[in-house]
Amino acid sequence: MVAYSIEQLHELFLKEDFDIQKFYDELYKEALYQQERLNAFVTITKTNPYKEIKQLFDSIPYVLKDNFNTKGILTTASSQMLKDYVPVYDAHVVEILKQNKCHLVGKSSMDELGMGYNNQTALTGIVCNPWDSSRIAGGSSGGSSALVGSGLIPFALGSDTGDSIRKPAGYCGVVGMKPTWGRISRYGLIPYASSLDHVGALTRNIKDMALVMEMLSGYDDKDMTSSTQNVPHYRNELNANMKGLKIAVLKNVFDDLKDEKIRLNFMDIIQTLKRLGVIVEEVSIPNELMEAIIPVYTIIANCEATSNHACLDGIKYGCYKDGQSIEDIMIQSRTYGFSSQIRRRFILGSLALLEDNQEKMFKKAQCVRRLIVDEINKIFLDYDIILTPNSGSIAPLIDHQSRSYDIIENHLCLSNFTGMPSLTLPCGFVENMPIAVNLTGRLFEEQTVLNIAYALEQELGYANQYCREG
Ligand code: GLN
Repeated sequence: MVAYSIEQLHELFLKEDFDIQKFYDELYKEALYQQERLNAFVTITKTNPYKEIKQLFDSIPYVLKDNFNTKGILTTASSQMLKDYVPVYDAHVVEILKQNKCHLVGKSSMDELGMGYNNQTALTGIVCNPWDSSRIAGGSSGGSSALVGSGLIPFALGSDTGDSIRKPAGYCGVVGMKPTWGRISRYGLIPYASSLDHVGALTRNIKDMALVMEMLSGYDDKDMTSSTQNVPHYRNELNANMKGLKIAVLKNVFDDLKDEKIRLNFMDIIQTLKRLGVIVEEVSIPNELMEAIIPVYTIIANCEATSNHACLDGIKYGCYKDGQSIEDIMIQSRTYGFSSQIRRRFILGSLALLEDNQEKMFKKAQCVRRLIVDEINKIFLDYDIILTPNSGSIAPLIDHQSRSYDIIENHLCLSNFTGMPSLTLPCGFVENMPIAVNLTGRLFEEQTVLNIAYALEQELGYANQYCREG
């Protein structure tokens, strides 16, 4: 099985002797093999599209995180609550992908409702890392990241509320990007926290990422947070010339990096960028604001999540458990339908939204978020990009990780606070596992982010990597 990129597939489709039916037969066989090894699918769509209907076109295979609504196809968000939910409509991005001749190979596993960081909370069990199946893929878009990293499909969609595309992308050795908040419609995405949620993608190289971003971005009148800004031709305008650009290295994050090998790799990357003509300097923001990232994120994300998921009560939506009264039915259904970590998050969110607590918890968190955003905006007055390591470690071993409250492991949600475009790029190996850097740009400046990533990718040489047997 050869792991093709989108661009390579487009070239193959032009060849007279290319057998698309055979290609999809092999791909579905490989999907079963990877499922055995990685447990990354919730659903594998059953058909080779070329067996039954003679399609008029050649299509690119892809995978969707299981929180995108797909008409007629099970959509569980990896939660017991939605175990049997089959949507009657497609998410906006799913419609776009259909129009663009992409073929859905399956729905990928995730942390329950997008809440988590290790893909250990998924209803269908842990997802393994393609480079070493004794390690986690990361979360919450763990299934999508693992499947792109295994070489099975050239791209997958994910969602990112705090880091859920970029963190697992780094662990799985692939490119992960969320664009500006509002750039891609979220219509039909099962929400987590609306002021932080982004739709994004995972690919194995930057050209493919530019293609996918261009395809998915644009105004959608079904999403009231959708932006009307024009979408540039990211792919055609990819340009690795970086002379004169200014990059800020966020010192608060770099200082928190303890792993010596990852530190050396990061310093090498700074040298590479300088060699390419970029100005690279250190900047910092007040440490007390960095330390506020987790409490601010926790309060805002949980408040918005509990409000968004109030409809999952066993009556309007979700699995039904009988009870003595309407209230009792809801209690029984929600107790049965959600795992304890989700219930804990909803309780925290509800607590912060109580009338007596709103001012000192929810509104205070929003004020501190504003202070943090102001600091980031100040950096972008002088710099085009903020550069950080993606994580302080390689993908942890299954069952050997605990929640880390370090800045190095939690800084990626800064660009969820600001809504800025943010991309994670593979940049090397430590102990035979991939590591990555993160690049964040100004609002709607996806092109700058992609260009710098493109230049770095050419220098570093980790494009199109995958591991099918680790
Ligand atoms: N790990 C974070 C959380 O659990 C982020 C998840 C995400 O981005 N969806 O909230």
